[in-house]
Amino acid sequence: MKMAGMAALSAGTSGGLDQRKFTLTDFEIGNRLGRGKFGKVYLARKLPEQYICALKVLWKAQLRKQNVEHQLRREIEIMANLRHPNILRLYGYFHDNDRVFLILEYAAGGELFNVLRDRGRFNEETTAKYMKDLASALEYCHRKNIIHRDIKPENLLLDHNGNIKLSDFGWSVHAPGKRRMTMCGTLDYLPPEMVMRKEHDPSVDIWALGVLGFEFITGQPPFEAQGQKATFKRITKVDLTFPCYISKDAQDLIKKLLKKEPSDRLPLSKVPDHPFIVKNLASAAKTAAKKKKK
Ligand code: ATP
Ligand code: MG
Repeated sequence: MKMAGMAALSAGTSGGLDQRKFTLTDFEIGNRLGRGKFGKVYLARKLPEQYICALKVLWKAQLRKQNVEHQLRREIEIMANLRHPNILRLYGYFHDNDRVFLILEYAAGGELFNVLRDRGRFNEETTAKYMKDLASALEYCHRKNIIHRDIKPENLLLDHNGNIKLSDFGWSVHAPGKRRMTMCGTLDYLPPEMVMRKEHDPSVDIWALGVLGFEFITGQPPFEAQGQKATFKRITKVDLTFPCYISKDAQDLIKKLLKKEPSDRLPLSKVPDHPFIVKNLASAAKTAAKKKKK
């Protein structure tokens, strides 16, 4: 059984993790926060320190059945080594006979997807803040040779201050100097080169940032269509149309991210300097200052 190897993991690559041995008795378990593919996520309090965290419980039998032990191990290795204000922290993990437990940073604001669904769409100030923070998180990953490859609103959580936290590194790859050929990720967020099963590189995440930006502002991903085939077609043609209420600046940034040719996409390091981000963050800061005065 491969999961037994989980114990050995800490000796190798997951240098960023708390190396102490945890057991379930170290935690006081609270409300269920959500349900994942392989188990549930609970609010928890670590004893005796009393810190709050999220405990993700995964059933080994299910992981084995779906043949994803390897993927989980990669997710742990990757998350353990990431330290960024917009990336969900993994503090540690442990396992018993039947389950694997991940000790995660608690994201009190829940899924961004739910907030977007409730509000319909975000205004441009909110969108600019999320895009800037995501660009920063992704740039950090790319610097460590990690490609996320599964950026979508369901994989974005919010903390108690409404700051975005990138999570779910299950599909990500640590690929120094390598271009990957596997097909993964959710259809709507796939770039042309992945739809066409060509080689791809970190710029797949730049494309996904463009798709998200569009979805934040309009409430819908840009290439939505009836059925896979039609979506693929729209993606490969970069069949992009903007509703009239989207500002010219927003359109310009999204267009610069959604370039068919990967090397033409705006580098992540340039995102914060784009007028859409600069202007909206400045006006958001003004609004916040006014509110404070009152
Ligand atoms: P899926 O692939 O279906 O998204 P999953 O196995 O990746 O499932 P998660 O997405 O990690 O599982 O967790 C399931 C749900 O639990 C999330 O959608 C979210 O609502 C909640 N959740 C997960 N982690 C946290 C966290 N750290 N803080 C708060 N809520 C969380
Ligand atoms: Mg998930």
